[in-house]
Amino acid sequence: SQQIILASRPNGMPDASTFRLEDKQRPELKAGEVVVKPTHFSVDPYMRGRMNDAKSYIPPFQVGEPLSGGAVAEVTDSKADGFAPRDVVTGNLPWATEAVVPANGLKKIDTKLAPASYYLGILGMPGLTAYFGLLDIGKPQPGETVVVSGAAGAVGIVVGQIAKIQGCRVVGIAGSDDKVAMLTEQFGFDAVVNYKTAPDLTKAIADACPDGVDIYFDNVGGEVSDAVIANINFHARIPLCGQIAFYNTTDVPVGPRIQPMLLTRSVLMKGFIVGDYKERFSEGVRQLAAWVSEGKLRYTETTVKGFDKLPEALLGLFSGQNTGKMIVEV
Ligand code: NDP
Repeated sequence: SQQIILASRPNGMPDASTFRLEDKQRPELKAGEVVVKPTHFSVDPYMRGRMNDAKSYIPPFQVGEPLSGGAVAEVTDSKADGFAPRDVVTGNLPWATEAVVPANGLKKIDTKLAPASYYLGILGMPGLTAYFGLLDIGKPQPGETVVVSGAAGAVGIVVGQIAKIQGCRVVGIAGSDDKVAMLTEQFGFDAVVNYKTAPDLTKAIADACPDGVDIYFDNVGGEVSDAVIANINFHARIPLCGQIAFYNTTDVPVGPRIQPMLLTRSVLMKGFIVGDYKERFSEGVRQLAAWVSEGKLRYTETTVKGFDKLPEALLGLFSGQNTGKMIVEV
């Protein structure tokens, strides 16, 4: 089988020298373990942080070891109770075409209820991130204006639709005219601003939000967030979900740019990690699945084919190559 290892730690944007494709011998299967063959891998922005040798909420990838991430796989052999060949499972798996892993980290999924890849997106980590971040921290009320950055991505597209379900006016921010058209025409967004082409982003957001911004779901940070926060309302809430604008920068620009607005308008800004809500994941998945089956929540994916394309797909997140969830199909 094959695996993709972290060949060296990147400084700034990763490139071909960051990754290496290798052949690998399969270790012996022991009690409590299963052999899995991944069919779908998730690539996610947080993986960039794990390439740095830095302490965080999740340990760094090790040089010379395979990267890993969310995946759906088929069980091909088992020495674990409750797991049998042909079971379809999801879990955190090494970037390998085949792996021997403990069964206790895996969850069986039903691919008749939803396509396998949905368990990596709308019914998985990104969907739960949108659900808890918006509802628990944002606390949307009918008639409020919700702005979401990274709006056409895995998390953002769900945030916008849940905000619509809650009766809000929803304004997205995304990086291409195709994404703008898709969000307004197919996903019910009231307005979407292209942050790459708007001549004056602060004004573009003001025009799209005549009553100001009550909730800003922040996936990106940087200048996009400066422009949204310039339009923030009294008692607004900001679920601080991601800061992708900074993941590949070597020197993060700092300065007292947004704090005065947060202070004088009594704004709540709260960072969170989806794992904070672990105890409530089953509630979240149940509600998301119900909305999907009722047709209230729609989803889209960008599928890249080929195990060896994992690095390319991951890096594609940082240039907006994906619409909806970025998935690699093995
Ligand atoms: P996406 O599917 O949204 O992919 C990333 C998108 O970000 C790209 O498609 C691109 O879209 C946009 N982007 C890339 N670089 C920049 C930039 N410099 N400035 C503005 N936009 C940029 O990823 P996810 O939905 O999986 O994740 C979205 C955010 O949420 C990330 O920051 C991620 O780290 C975070 N996250 C946080 C979690 C948590 O527990 N707190 C859990 C999951 C995700 P475009 O074409 O619009 O530029």
